[in-house]
Amino acid sequence: MFTNFSFLKQIVILCLLTFHVFSFSALAQKRLAITIDDVPNTRQFEEDGFKPSLLQLIDSLGIEVTIFINEGKIYDTDFESDNFQLLYDWVSNKRVRAGNHTFSHPRYSAVELEAFQSNIIKGAAITAELCKKQDKTYQYFRFPYNDLGKDSLQQLRIAKWLKEQNYLLTPFTIESSDWMFNYLYINDLKNGDTLSAKQTAAAYLKHTSANLHFFDSLATAIYQRDIPHIFLCHDNKINADFFSGLLEIFKQSEFEIIDLDVVMQDEIFKQQSHYYGGAGFSWIYRWVESHDLRKEMMQAEPEVQSYFDRYHDLIQKK
Ligand SMILES: [Zn+2]
Repeated sequence: MFTNFSFLKQIVILCLLTFHVFSFSALAQKRLAITIDDVPNTRQFEEDGFKPSLLQLIDSLGIEVTIFINEGKIYDTDFESDNFQLLYDWVSNKRVRAGNHTFSHPRYSAVELEAFQSNIIKGAAITAELCKKQDKTYQYFRFPYNDLGKDSLQQLRIAKWLKEQNYLLTPFTIESSDWMFNYLYINDLKNGDTLSAKQTAAAYLKHTSANLHFFDSLATAIYQRDIPHIFLCHDNKINADFFSGLLEIFKQSEFEIIDLDVVMQDEIFKQQSHYYGGAGFSWIYRWVESHDLRKEMMQAEPEVQSYFDRYHDLIQKK
């Protein structure tokens, strides 16, 4: 019988072996859907002189994405009609599929069920109508902070309600803390430190590449095949400035960008989550039954502690 540690070692060995084998035999089958949260970033839109930077880039690159909208962001700045137009442009773009991310981005663990439900309903008011007019489906929901609730009862109650409302919970398998790198990147730019900004952006891309390989290898080892992935990032400046760099990473790793609908049809995404807390980590971990094994897997994740330390220092000084 294996201890958890040796079991993890087995998985890591399997990762290395299967990744090596698969890198020769099944390259074409590596697939990934891109999802972008916290759309529309109206504060950045104002900073950019009302230019929808990330949307224009995605459109010009010709890739399909699914966005998760916080309609409340329309009212974050003094330019409601411009912001409404921005939301309209995102939702009506032919490469974009829209989902609900609540109105004002509350953490479900921290609020009552009824308040959270109202926030979801309010968050759909404009988008649902726009999608209907444009014959687009509107069915995906993603929890802010990927916080599904503080315990199994809280999680069960909202899951039941979301199903009744015909929402599909949207997981993710890979992310790379873009929100943290973005904070540092903007801080560098505000300080006029272009060298540090470049280094931060390079670290973000490097970390994305490391996480892509880590989660893909882990999934391949667990499921003994290539699984389609869901990549999570945000509508922010670092992605607007370096989205081409992200795509280059996917391309170099032979990942094809595909639609979220296709990814969600895979059996992997029909699995039950075994995690009953409010932390926002990858579903690859949530599908692991053993708490100890999950913890060990997490500890093997590529780390960027020095950047998190810098981030926390800045937050504290604020
Ligand atoms: Zn969010």
